[in-house]
Amino acid sequence: MSAQAASAPVTGRFAPTPSGRLHLGNLLCCLLAYLSARSEGGRFLLRIEDLDVPRCPRRLSDQCIEDLRFLGFDWDEAPLYQSERTEIYQRYMNRLAELGLVYPCFCTRAQLHAAAAPNLGDREPVYSRACANLSAEEIARRMKTRSPAMRLRVPDETISFEDGLYGEISENPARDSGDTIIRRSDGLFGYQLAVVIDDALSGVTEIVRGRDILHSTPRQIFLQRTLGFDTPGYIHIPLLTDSQGRRLAKRDRDLDLTALARVMTPQQILGMLAYSCGVLPENRPTSLEELTKVFDWKNVRRDDIRLAYP
Ligand code: GLU
Repeated sequence: MSAQAASAPVTGRFAPTPSGRLHLGNLLCCLLAYLSARSEGGRFLLRIEDLDVPRCPRRLSDQCIEDLRFLGFDWDEAPLYQSERTEIYQRYMNRLAELGLVYPCFCTRAQLHAAAAPNLGDREPVYSRACANLSAEEIARRMKTRSPAMRLRVPDETISFEDGLYGEISENPARDSGDTIIRRSDGLFGYQLAVVIDDALSGVTEIVRGRDILHSTPRQIFLQRTLGFDTPGYIHIPLLTDSQGRRLAKRDRDLDLTALARVMTPQQILGMLAYSCGVLPENRPTSLEELTKVFDWKNVRRDDIRLAYP
């Protein structure tokens, strides 16, 4: 499934944001990423996306790792923590700035909200580019009273990629996503830049993640091309809903591992997830070892996956 040469070993990864306890949607993503890599004899990496340090305390990262181990997951190398990689992100942001692709944005939350177009669905608003062409004097003047966010100038051109489940996806980042914040005004780096750098520097060749991130991919491909990185293969997976068809969220405490581990064994949880997404034909206890042997992307559903629980 990888876009790399067929002979190159696959390197997959799971990259959770530990702002709460992992829920079954996160675990399904980890499961499919793991099975896809391991069934090809590939490597599997774990990256903790704790860029937003106040929201992702170490206690939650530790819990996340414990939960993954409880289910039997293993990974190559020590997990990477994004909170420890600020200098690397800064270096690449400087490179983008040298290329004229970064500008400071002084807009307040209220200004952004007022300028946003209505009917956005679940997409982020496209930025109006109010700060895209400020003069050096104007920037210096505004810097005195407000520390800016840094935005990436995204291109007004179509970027396409072949998704492993959804086929060809095309998007014009300038029109559809808008200039993206790569460093927030409080100095914390943004997801779009960090994810591209980390996947590239870790040698990731295959990215399996939720369909909710599908629209970030063209911007990430733009960053890869600009920074001279290879583009990995992408497989976005359907969202998991509860048994009534509602999307899972971190607030659904009854579907996080604290609650589930009280009533189910790891083998039962794996079996339920594998059955829900189509990897196993029946809902029964299983192991990662067994699933790795039977795994085939052909069996994975493309429409939303209803959890076979409770
Ligand atoms: N940290 C992101 C999340 O938990 C995943 C990002 C990715 O897989 O690229 O939603």
